[in-house]
Amino acid sequence: MPSDTLRNTRSHLFYQTGHPRPVLDRAEGIYMWDSEGNRFIDGSSGAMVCNIGHSNPAVLAAMQAQMERFTFGYRLHFVTEASEALAAKTASLAWPGMDRVFFVSGGSEAVESAIKLARQYAIAIGQPSRWKIISRSPSYHGCTLGALAISGYEALSDPFLPMMQAMPKVSAPRAWLDGLDPADPATGAHYAAELERKILEEGPDSVLGFILEPVGGASTGALVPPAGYMEAVREVCTRHGVLLIHDEVMSGGGRTGRFLGGQNWTAAPDILAVSKGFGAGYVPLGAMVAQGHIVDAVMAGGGFLHGFTYAGNPLACAAGLAVIAEIERQDMMGNAQRTGALLKRELEGLMPRFPFIGEVRGMGLLLALELVADRDSKEPLPPELRAFDRLTEQAYQRGLIIYPRRSRGGYSGDHVLIAPPMITTPAQVGEIMERLTDALTAFAAECGL
Ligand code: PLP
Repeated sequence: MPSDTLRNTRSHLFYQTGHPRPVLDRAEGIYMWDSEGNRFIDGSSGAMVCNIGHSNPAVLAAMQAQMERFTFGYRLHFVTEASEALAAKTASLAWPGMDRVFFVSGGSEAVESAIKLARQYAIAIGQPSRWKIISRSPSYHGCTLGALAISGYEALSDPFLPMMQAMPKVSAPRAWLDGLDPADPATGAHYAAELERKILEEGPDSVLGFILEPVGGASTGALVPPAGYMEAVREVCTRHGVLLIHDEVMSGGGRTGRFLGGQNWTAAPDILAVSKGFGAGYVPLGAMVAQGHIVDAVMAGGGFLHGFTYAGNPLACAAGLAVIAEIERQDMMGNAQRTGALLKRELEGLMPRFPFIGEVRGMGLLLALELVADRDSKEPLPPELRAFDRLTEQAYQRGLIIYPRRSRGGYSGDHVLIAPPMITTPAQVGEIMERLTDALTAFAAECGL
């Protein structure tokens, strides 16, 4: 449909953009163009999805080749080379022993699958009293009722509480906000002790799992766990027979410099969920990956009572396989480390000029700016300012896409995520910084900061 027609027609779609948006015409690498020829830098890879950049020719060719053979074969009727190959590749990139892969089409589906596999495992090993999944607040694990129940995001979940089972929460380890030293192992131990207290309070026999994002996504704004945390929560879970689930929907796919964000530490989960960068915006794709003994127990107990029609479809799997091949061929994880370190230094360099940047957080190319009224007291900006939204709009008007979020649960703060594709070059970091600096200057003037 020509863009004029699109602009003048009342849309039948309803999403929460809040702002009028142009019509997307084409995209390549880290850039996107609207139908009037305006160029945008995809500084958040969509919603931290398009990790390898847009229109990668090798991925398009792999999809084309698969499309010319067949695009669908129902998983109960056929196996396909693409799904077998992607499952084997995924297992090889996951943790030792995590070699069983269950495909889905998105992050919420991957998390739902993890919860249900965990529950069936508890039943299979004779522990049916275990059903509670402890999660962190704030956190976001998806919008379906099960994934929402374990999300620490009241604004999204409150209206649906009568329809779902609310699950126990512990604090996300936001050391900076809590005034603790993230480099001190005592800080990791402090948050792990809270988890242990919660397990004891709930009754260890009732606790099925604990879910965390290894490097935080939108809810915590690229939160990197404090020293000792990942190992300490692993120990607590093991001690109480609680399954540890890593939600790698945003941190997986290479963005932190490792294929899985959790692989930046040594403690392995029992089950994990990936999506976003796994299909990298080419196809809806995700996976739940589990330790072999968990899947074996569930299968021996009668099989996994779960599955989605589109799961493991060959077109999605062919694309996913080509995405991983491109990540490896172009050493994109190495680039995420190098370019991420450069971008983080540049962002930190903005702090003297813009005192409302409280903290620059993150790892690799998953970075965030926390916006505050006062850096020392960490007092948030007034909610009515909608700082996260205003800064994002200032950037958007300058052709830079960043990702806005209110942080700190409920309302008590703002952050923006800056997470360009893993192919971003140092020169493109310069382009991002130029536009971001202009946007921050305009934002400061607009808000009187
Ligand atoms: N888990 C995390 C950590 C996420 O960031 C998201 C989405 O932002 C989800 C789960 C849900 O994924 P999806 O929107 O693909 O259902």
